Amino acid sequence: MNGFDPVRELDIRRDLSDASLRLLLQSEQWDSSLAAAADDKRRKIYGDEVYLRGLIEFSNFCKNNCYYCGIRAGNQNAVRYRLSKEEILDCCTQGYDLGFRTFVLQSGEDPFFTDALICGIVSEIRVRFPDCAITLSLGEKTRESYKAYFDAGANRYLLRHETADDTHYRKLHPESMSLQNRKRCLYDLKEIGYQVGSGFMVGSPYQTADCLIEDLRFLQALGPDMIGIGPYIPHKETPFAAFSSGSLSLTLRLISILRLLFPYALIPSTTALGTIHPQGRELGLKAGANVVMPNLSPVRVRKLYELYENKICTGEESAQCRGCLEQRIAAAGYRAVTAVGNVKKEKQNDDDC
Ligand code: SF4
Repeated sequence: MNGFDPVRELDIRRDLSDASLRLLLQSEQWDSSLAAAADDKRRKIYGDEVYLRGLIEFSNFCKNNCYYCGIRAGNQNAVRYRLSKEEILDCCTQGYDLGFRTFVLQSGEDPFFTDALICGIVSEIRVRFPDCAITLSLGEKTRESYKAYFDAGANRYLLRHETADDTHYRKLHPESMSLQNRKRCLYDLKEIGYQVGSGFMVGSPYQTADCLIEDLRFLQALGPDMIGIGPYIPHKETPFAAFSSGSLSLTLRLISILRLLFPYALIPSTTALGTIHPQGRELGLKAGANVVMPNLSPVRVRKLYELYENKICTGEESAQCRGCLEQRIAAAGYRAVTAVGNVKKEKQNDDDC
């Protein structure tokens, strides 16, 4: 390894061996050169633009029981809520007036919202806001359901795979769920024509460096347009209450690695990152991220969508949230834009010469 520079190798080849990835993940040695290379890469493709997405968390009911999640079905102490179609549309109107051109509709896997209901909401947003992108994040569905939402006007779908390692997956989820089905969902979404986002938690219980390498390999095979990662943060009403949060430095290192592996990806600097460190989102941008997702949900329900504890930005109105983020983005050296912000597709064979 004498004289070997994994950052340069990753930058040029857009790939690394497992051994070199492990080295990069487990050492602080290359952190500053890694972040600099990632920032340089994102600036070449996306300039200094940071895309804002308006997040609407419309239901915290979920039929699943992921061991790490604060709104899991088994949490009897969660205060549950659902927004009505009109409330969701009001959030969109407010968001549109603030300049947002992407709406992200997110919920637990809530059977109350049938395909007909979801399609009704999506098609109404499509009619009222034809110049906006509609992103869904509703969990695992059948291919037919995904197709129906797409035909109703949805463009993008976020579904983190959370871990691509089978043994690790079994430690995080009950028997009723399977990694195979999650992967099937992601490939269905891609085939249907969505811009697809996936991702994983950093520092989740029982995660090893090999699990993370498996995550990166899975993403390479999938080729997502968006990749969301954030530190694992425990919630007291889960079986994993006693575990510690994922680390800031490892999350930042992974954002930079993702930027160099997937130069064209849309990578959010997540609220979870801002929750474990006051400057977390700014640091995420400097490490190569280029998206932030401020919350457009009504303030009265924000605290209730509690996947993890101490989530930030639950008290501000949407306009305050937007203003605050815009300032933070500018202070970090970037520019918040409210454009639709589609993924910039890679030119064919652009690294063949
Ligand atoms: S992680 Fe998602 S699917 Fe799992 S319990 Fe939480 S909301 Fe439900």
